[in-house]
Amino acid sequence: MGENSGSGHSGGLVLVLNSGSSSVKFALLAPASGERVLAGTAEKVGTPGTELRIQRYPDHIVTEQLPEGHYQAVISRILDCLPGPGSAAAGDGASGTGPAPLIGAGHRVVHGGERFTASVLVDDEVIAAIRSSSHLAPLHNPANLAGIEAVRAARPDLPQVAVFDTAFHQTMPPGAFRYAVPEEWYTRYGVRRYGFHGTSYRFVSERAAVLLGRPLTELRLVIAHLGNGCSVAAVRDGVSVDTTMGLTPLEGLVMGTRSGDVDPGVFGYLAERAGLGIDGLSEALYTASGLQGLSGVGNDMRTVEAAAAEGHERARLAVTVFVHRLAKAIAAMVVGLGRLDALVFTAGIGENSAVIRSHVLERLGFLGLTEDAEANARHGRDTRGRISRDGPVVAMVVPTDEELMIARDTARLAGAVARLR
Ligand code: ADP
Repeated sequence: MGENSGSGHSGGLVLVLNSGSSSVKFALLAPASGERVLAGTAEKVGTPGTELRIQRYPDHIVTEQLPEGHYQAVISRILDCLPGPGSAAAGDGASGTGPAPLIGAGHRVVHGGERFTASVLVDDEVIAAIRSSSHLAPLHNPANLAGIEAVRAARPDLPQVAVFDTAFHQTMPPGAFRYAVPEEWYTRYGVRRYGFHGTSYRFVSERAAVLLGRPLTELRLVIAHLGNGCSVAAVRDGVSVDTTMGLTPLEGLVMGTRSGDVDPGVFGYLAERAGLGIDGLSEALYTASGLQGLSGVGNDMRTVEAAAAEGHERARLAVTVFVHRLAKAIAAMVVGLGRLDALVFTAGIGENSAVIRSHVLERLGFLGLTEDAEANARHGRDTRGRISRDGPVVAMVVPTDEELMIARDTARLAGAVARLR
């Protein structure tokens, strides 16, 4: 990051936007240091009752109602709070490093199809290509685009960068990304495995290499991103070679409310037995399954773990199924690696649940994995992430930071624009 090699905000600030189907999350941060200046969320976007909550770091929080709740209104309001290009940053007194201009906006875009293999500067062609991938993520891509277009309308000269959840997995070989379905489903409709959480995997694999003190290009990693959505990826020499999510983020592991893998035969079976249509089945698999469906106590792992600890049978079963499927998926990912150097846990559950990590490591002793119970209880915080005992295969915890990865990509690509101007 040559153009951001200074500390604090000296390289400028980046606005990171995650425009979802009904919410917009944003952060203003320094890509060099990761320091946050502002962050916030707008809920119920698209309705007149949109509420915008802005935190100016460290602890000044304001909440305001926006009478016009569409994306343009929300994003204009967010941009009003930010510095202009070359002007002093809102709140830059936090680090005392002087004025910091806004150098670009980075957008999380859920689906880049096969077209996008890396982050890109946004132009008309990129907008058209994201639009043409929208059938692959009909809830997300249009919302992501609305964010891009709203920034463009308000600040036409601000460089914008699109960072795709799927891009990192475009290195998967056909053996990993193809489904055994009629050829035309792939060639005509793009039915293949794409994988998600790519921005997180990229950040975590780079960070794991630093913590391990080894070049990423020589490492064979399995990374478990366990948040509300959960997936596992195999990262070989820095590139993704396999992952558990597929055409959609429904495939793979048990998640908060999503089922993960089920027998595809369940569709025909339930259509006949329960009279469910496609919408009803999808809704159930996305929103009423996973930890929620199994446990009946909620989709949040903290709630499920607490109920399980008190002896709640369904909550215990939910943990058992979650762990079984996770351990099985991790072992399967090693097939794409040939050798395992480190298993890395990240995201909400991965970073915070010593219990889940402990169960998984216990199941995977045959891969050479062990648990250092004390280090695990402290989430690897004073052992450079490491939670395993000495041995050739490391288990570790590496906190993810997708916003920072998006900010860094944005600074790098926006820096290239600035040099051309
Ligand atoms: P998102 O995927 O929305 O970014 P997060 O990465 O924040 O979500 O992860 C949310 C999940 O992390 C929830 O299931 C939550 O229960 C779980 N989680 C957070 N803290 C803990 C904890 N201390 N113990 C167990 N699970 C936790």
